[in-house]
Amino acid sequence: MNRREMLLTAGAGAAALLLPRALRADDKGPFTLPKLPYEYDALEPIIDKMTMMIHHDKHHQAYVDNLNKAVAGNAELAKLSIEELVAGAKKLDQKVRGPIINNGGGHLNHSFFWTIMAPKGQGGAPDGELAKAIEAYGGLEKLKADVLAKALGQFGSGWAWVEVADGGTLKVTNTPNQNNPWMDGKKAILGIDVWEHAYYLKYQNKRADYVKAWWDVANWKAIGDNFNKAKG
Ligand code: MN
Repeated sequence: MNRREMLLTAGAGAAALLLPRALRADDKGPFTLPKLPYEYDALEPIIDKMTMMIHHDKHHQAYVDNLNKAVAGNAELAKLSIEELVAGAKKLDQKVRGPIINNGGGHLNHSFFWTIMAPKGQGGAPDGELAKAIEAYGGLEKLKADVLAKALGQFGSGWAWVEVADGGTLKVTNTPNQNNPWMDGKKAILGIDVWEHAYYLKYQNKRADYVKAWWDVANWKAIGDNFNKAKG
């Protein structure tokens, strides 16, 4: 399977998610942990092996387990796909909303995150339509600076995102916890996990150093695929 094949558009709807192949839009529970598309140490030295092992095997697994617990025994939720759960999470009944936002979001966000990274030197560079959109945004250095600002501006745990609006305009945003743009009907092509569990072992409190280094493992082929599918 090549990286291009690993991504697919989840559906034809305006808010179609961009899900990794291992996480099909129509997947229903019980959900399972997707395999990493590379070895645990493949992102060294930017992201260390121990961080990847704990992040994938423990944190992501916990989101999957807790999502399954939240869905189990609820006939209405059990009928919903991962796409429906996440896209509709904020409209769910208050009693079940929190666990679905946190764990459905956590499962989706991490499944997405693994696919937009590649070993240093193998991620290519922005090209094609994405390169043009980045130029129109103000250039790659401005995009990186704005992502850093959003990453640092996210108090506590969360994510920094590059979203794409219909027509292909890029926008840099952030969300708290495991919230994501898809919950608000938006589409992301890139997201950086800025929870401490994503970087603390190697970077300790230096979130800025992690986010600046992260670009060395950006998988521009995958991000470009995301852009082409999302721009509408
Ligand atoms: Mn994480």
